Amino acid sequence: MNDERSSVIQGRYKLLADAAKRVASPQIRNSGTIGGNVCNASPAGDTLVPLLVLDAEAELASKPNGSVETRGVPLAEFFVGPGKTVRAPNELLCAIRLPLPPAGYVGRFFKFGTRPALDIAAIAIGFGGVLSGNTLTGARVAFGAVAPVPMRAPRTEAAVEGAALDAAAIARIAAIARDEVRPIDDVRASAWYRRELVRNMTRRMLGDVAQT
Ligand SMILES: Cc1cc2nc3c(=O)[nH]c(=O)nc-3n(C[C@H](O)[C@H](O)[C@H](O)COP(=O)(O)OP(=O)(O)OC[C@H]3O[C@@H](n4cnc5c(N)ncnc54)[C@H](O)[C@@H]3O)c2cc1C
Repeated sequence: MNDERSSVIQGRYKLLADAAKRVASPQIRNSGTIGGNVCNASPAGDTLVPLLVLDAEAELASKPNGSVETRGVPLAEFFVGPGKTVRAPNELLCAIRLPLPPAGYVGRFFKFGTRPALDIAAIAIGFGGVLSGNTLTGARVAFGAVAPVPMRAPRTEAAVEGAALDAAAIARIAAIARDEVRPIDDVRASAWYRRELVRNMTRRMLGDVAQT
């Protein structure tokens, strides 16, 4: 999982590179794969948040009757529970397809854990969209470690879409994000703390995007 070093990933899909850098440790990234991270389907899987933001599609292949059959599943429909996906037992994930981001695209990834390395996310946030002035269009927002699956956030996306990202709008959007996530209490953080982190970091990230 050394996508963080790929010039293509760095150039076109920087938020995926930023997330890949935060997976486990260099040793684990040297042997682990993005496909494994996706099929593992952890709600806290680090590459899943940027892949959702980037409208990724999983290509699944099987050979039911002697010839290979493939199907594409939008990643937003791939995860159905912790460790559970729509992949059938006889299917292999053979590709992840990503559309090329349009001109003016900006993306951001943020992960918070309780250690600086080898850490499982307490929350993760991804944003993407085309920036024009201080508005984002084609907005995508995804969260990790705050629901049974890594989640797209349609209410937050609708609030971001086309809004002039001034301080009042950003505060309103951050509150919607806090209310949209569905975290639990566990060893890494309480549900309350996760919601407050989502609100504060959404506000900070959108403020940063608006000043780009
Ligand atoms: C110490 C440690 C720390 C970790 N820290 C993190 C972390 O910070 N962030 C994070 O996101 N993850 C973390 N992980 C989890 C793990 O490293 C990642 O999920 C990794 O990407 C798994 O990749 P892999 O190729 O080794 O998959 P495997 O572990 O080999 O596979 C995972 C599952 O997916 C299935 N699978 C794998 N590839 C395919 C495929 N192509 N088609 C169908 N099924 C497939 C396997 O059968 C298995 O059920 C950590 C793991 C360890 C051990």
